[in-house]
Amino acid sequence: MKKVLAFDLGGTKFAFGVVAENGEVLGSDKIETLAKQGPEQAIQRVNLAAQSLLQKLNIKPEELIGIGIASPGPLDISKGCVDGSPNLPGWTGYSIEQGLSTFFNLPARIDNDANAAALGEYKFGAGKNKKNMVYLTVSTGIGGGVIVDGRLMRGANGNAAELGHLTLNINGPACPCGANGCFEMYASGTAIARRTREAIQAGAPSQILSLAGSLEKITTHHILDALQKEDELAKKIWNETTEYLGRGLAVVINTFNPELIVVGGGVTAAGELLFKPVREKALRYAFPRLAAVCSIVPAGLGSNVGVVGAAACAFESTP
Ligand SMILES: [Zn+2]
Repeated sequence: MKKVLAFDLGGTKFAFGVVAENGEVLGSDKIETLAKQGPEQAIQRVNLAAQSLLQKLNIKPEELIGIGIASPGPLDISKGCVDGSPNLPGWTGYSIEQGLSTFFNLPARIDNDANAAALGEYKFGAGKNKKNMVYLTVSTGIGGGVIVDGRLMRGANGNAAELGHLTLNINGPACPCGANGCFEMYASGTAIARRTREAIQAGAPSQILSLAGSLEKITTHHILDALQKEDELAKKIWNETTEYLGRGLAVVINTFNPELIVVGGGVTAAGELLFKPVREKALRYAFPRLAAVCSIVPAGLGSNVGVVGAAACAFESTP
């Protein structure tokens, strides 16, 4: 069975694994990225760590068909590097593709992490056989990837589907992307915590503060705890959150006419507390003919999504 080496680069962790063409992770490990110390040291260490993993699995690099890399965007795919990614300061211009490709003497390709995750869910996860599918990850930010007619939509220069930056409110809070009122400024885990802090600071009574210990420590988890206790602010925040997600997903449905939307990321740990109202609202706000064919489901790959997504990209680019 064909195998690839897959890397999932993040600002904190640099995960990697050997993945078979049926999506099975044969072995995996991770190192600290130490992103602020620059790309050379991280690539050197991850190369050695991946080499050890291959030795442990008794697999030689020449038995692999290629390397896939999932990286935070934006990317300059012509150079195989990131281009101004806020989580990887000082990495712009360094070819991550080349750094890995040269060491293992294998072809390598880099993709935006959410796009790679979309391809992973399509090939091996919740989106199998759904040729028009959208993947959305809702965690500290919101990322997206789109499968159209069975192919990952990469766009003109590899940066397609920044769905977290759909504008929901032109007068909304400033987003690091330079625009205002983006989808992720309302519905990401970071935004849910921010909206809760703002409400508490404005005097809204709630148990959330005592559950979290301090304003800075508030996470989605505390809001869900308070929701179980019938906390009024938690109900309001959660209702607004599912409203924003529903509005954003309705735009996605109207734009891409997908048969399936797969939603992953930390915030989806809320399960049906999230999915039931989001489904109901998204399908209500979208055009009825498009809503009629669209299902909204949780992601299938769990914490392996980064490595498996990168592997899916490698299999696609080195048939
Ligand atoms: Zn934005």
